[in-house]
Amino acid sequence: MTRKVRVRYAPSPTGPQHIGGIRTALYNYLFAKKHGGDFILRIEDTDQGRYVPGTEEYLIDAIKWCGFDFDEGVHVGGPHAPYRQSERKAIYKQYADQLIASGNAYYSFDSNEAVDAKRKEAEQNKKNWQYDASTRGEMVNSLTLSPAEVDQKLKEDAPFAIRFKIPADEEVVVNDLIRGRVVVHSKQLDDKVLFKSDGMPTYHLANIVDDHLMEISHVIRGEEWLPSAPLHVLLYRALGWENTMPEFAHLPLLLKPDGNGKLSKRDGDRLGFPVFPLNWTDPKTGEFSSGYKEAGYFPDAFLNLLAFLGWNPGTEQEIFSMEEMIQAFSLEKVSKSGAKFSLDKARWFNQQYLQKKSAKEILSLVQLPANNLSEAQLEKVVELLKPRCVFAKDMISVGAYFFAAPTEYDAKTVEKKWKDNSAQIVKDVAELFEAAPVFKAALLETSFKGYMEEKQLGFGAAMPPLRLVLSGAGEGPHLFDIAEILGKEECLKRMKSGIENIEKISLPKN
Ligand code: GLU
Repeated sequence: MTRKVRVRYAPSPTGPQHIGGIRTALYNYLFAKKHGGDFILRIEDTDQGRYVPGTEEYLIDAIKWCGFDFDEGVHVGGPHAPYRQSERKAIYKQYADQLIASGNAYYSFDSNEAVDAKRKEAEQNKKNWQYDASTRGEMVNSLTLSPAEVDQKLKEDAPFAIRFKIPADEEVVVNDLIRGRVVVHSKQLDDKVLFKSDGMPTYHLANIVDDHLMEISHVIRGEEWLPSAPLHVLLYRALGWENTMPEFAHLPLLLKPDGNGKLSKRDGDRLGFPVFPLNWTDPKTGEFSSGYKEAGYFPDAFLNLLAFLGWNPGTEQEIFSMEEMIQAFSLEKVSKSGAKFSLDKARWFNQQYLQKKSAKEILSLVQLPANNLSEAQLEKVVELLKPRCVFAKDMISVGAYFFAAPTEYDAKTVEKKWKDNSAQIVKDVAELFEAAPVFKAALLETSFKGYMEEKQLGFGAAMPPLRLVLSGAGEGPHLFDIAEILGKEECLKRMKSGIENIEKISLPKN
């Protein structure tokens, strides 16, 4: 019987999730939906010392902004509630006890200082030290103490840790859906703490117990968890859950644009682009980091660009709606090697999505400066500017001349293209415009072309001065479209003032 696909995203609320975390959530979601499964949000907050308030809400807001959501989780409930590990505290102890009873775990009473001292001593001899099969015999634990001594310590409420007893000599196999067969020798693994005397499980125990109880079928998570996977495999076996152990898939790291190292939360805005989905202000330090949402990315573009950081459908298609992504997604097409973030590519995705948006939608997203244009004219403006913008908000700067007459004129164009006859050309065209029976782009263009022919002027001589006076820019959308939108009166005004302004700044030519 094939089991129902159930996947989870299980962040620890130790800070806002960066784009790598959102990508993990997305891949889990795509996988779940492709297979008609469930997508669960579990908050792994067993390490209370690292708790950062607000990060759980931040994550839920970020996922919602992206346009998807969880089927079960802290904010929506579900059959396996509660979904916050701190609220499941009572569940874990019995499994730690079970592991002790079956000889797979033991009490250790060593203080942190004692363990550190061992480590330091080994370091002095240029050796590594870990609490494992080769060293546990020299430590204070239920393997070296008598049962009576152990009972005594527990009665006295001596601080303890329950450690997993890693088998001494075994090849541990992790079958990873992305990486294939990963084999680690148990000698390399240490006896990880599973449970502490404060009553809290550690990540490893809580994670395995919850994945089991929540009937998780696939664990899809970042590569940084691959080193923990052999321990997890051993834990499933020790708890007798090997038959229902989830399948593992460890996702490639997200790398900095130069490929040097992992993209980290600490990168904030330092690399010239946001690493967080939404703006975030650290509650402790007050440090601000910008988000994709506020930077002007569309949620669907953001998801599309995230999807391609580590996955490739193997076709030419790059633009995918959520539905298409769900259909096309497969773990086999997720790469093993790290995915380099590229700002150019991220911008490209947003630009592609901008082109697909209707003018009406874009107008609803962007607050344009006050202007005298009608709704229909504004829609035309948006259509003209779209190909030149990456973000909807770029319309404000790229198309500034639609909303106010230029006060500055592109210096390079003035220098190169404003010739002795430029003012005269503008004056002549102003007359043509004045005389135009209807102020329509096609008509204006025809009469302008007639004029150029008559005066034997090339485009290179006649167009730039005209563009300068009307828009202040050296380039832009089709000039006669701009003229039509501005209207006769405004064009004539700009032509007149443009000549005056430019003549003032342009050096006399000889
Ligand atoms: N709580 C872990 C994290 O913060 C989850 C790792 C896992 O998915 O198993 O990423």
